[in-house]
Amino acid sequence: MQFSELGLRAAMLDAVAELGYKEPTPIQERAIPLLLEGRDVIGSAQTGTGKTAAFALPILTRLGPHGPGPRCLVLEPTRELAFQTHESFLKFARFTQLRCGLVYGGVGYGKQREDLANGVDVLVATPGRLLDHMGEKAVKLNMVKFLILDEADRMLDMGFLPDVKRIVEQTPRDRQTALFSATIPPAIETLITWAMNNPETVAIGARRSPAETVKHVLYPVAEAQKMDLLLALLEAIHWESVIVFCRTKRGADEVEQSLKRAKHRAAVIHSDRSQKEREQALEGFKKGSYEVLVATDVASRGLDIADVSHVINYDVPQHPEDYVHRIGRTGRAQATGDAFTLYTAGDAQAVFAVERFITQKIERLKLEGFPYNYTALFDEDKLGPLHERRVKGVKMGGGYYIGGSRRKR
Ligand code: AMP
Repeated sequence: MQFSELGLRAAMLDAVAELGYKEPTPIQERAIPLLLEGRDVIGSAQTGTGKTAAFALPILTRLGPHGPGPRCLVLEPTRELAFQTHESFLKFARFTQLRCGLVYGGVGYGKQREDLANGVDVLVATPGRLLDHMGEKAVKLNMVKFLILDEADRMLDMGFLPDVKRIVEQTPRDRQTALFSATIPPAIETLITWAMNNPETVAIGARRSPAETVKHVLYPVAEAQKMDLLLALLEAIHWESVIVFCRTKRGADEVEQSLKRAKHRAAVIHSDRSQKEREQALEGFKKGSYEVLVATDVASRGLDIADVSHVINYDVPQHPEDYVHRIGRTGRAQATGDAFTLYTAGDAQAVFAVERFITQKIERLKLEGFPYNYTALFDEDKLGPLHERRVKGVKMGGGYYIGGSRRKR
């Protein structure tokens, strides 16, 4: 089966070709024609099966030109999923005039209000923040023709079903609805009966999601030992290709120099390097003549590098979204990857922001045999209120692990 046989508009075929998708995944093959026909669809499928494209491509096809909206509403249980789904919509809508907006909690209202006022065709949202905007009359849902309830079982787990119902009630009854859920517990059955019209079920076998296959680890370390720990990690773990992320251009240059002194074949990319230098670094890394690529966030956006075995955050990213972008380089296509983050005492706030964003507490590890200087992070559980807060039911702080690194190459 080819994408061109599914009945999608030309702009979608161009977008998937540009993304390098060769053929539709099973859920895309089955769900796209149903959604194009106007049917309600239940997809019992997880992240990692290509489900985002399975609903985004037919909806973007049916939306036609830009118009008043939002005409498509996508509800997501977490900020991370909302962010990722919005990114996917932007990619798929690239060759159209359609506008896609994103609202989620934990950030300011201003920019979101502005986007809503400017008009969006597609709105990706988490329930709580969307209700806030609705309460302020910053958005109305009376034009919604397409409603996607994504990861419905996680909405249930997180206690969002009442919010979801309040939102659904504000959308027109003659809308088309699709619901995705890895499992269909009784509460979701009830939601289906209430919110959907004669739905067709598309069940796709479980596959691990890219996010789940990535192993996230924090390595607490004293500021002065960061470089030594990076070198020790590169000695201690099995890796094939690594991207090391740094916060600043200068920091990236310094890390590259230190890696070279330690006889690693390293290259660096950041915005002060010429286009030619960046291309040369990237090509060399892809071909394998460099084994470590040092990069800043700005330079790494949109880089076409799939399947690196490890991402190491030499510096904790300032924005939690950048963490997701960075680790998006590993664990692609169901390969497993590791994302290591060096964590110094000054990073506590930023680490907490990342953990909240990905709704996951990240494991703390110590590298066995490394001559650690003491840092207060080794007693993180005694550090006070910041670390006692909860990440969606996961107790913060404490939980320290020693060892766990892989054997030497
Ligand atoms: P999802 O299940 O929507 O989170 O998608 C998982 C990953 O598969 C994403 O990185 C997509 O870009 C990728 N993907 C989705 N559809 C295809 C396809 N037809 N061919 C190759 N990759 C795909």
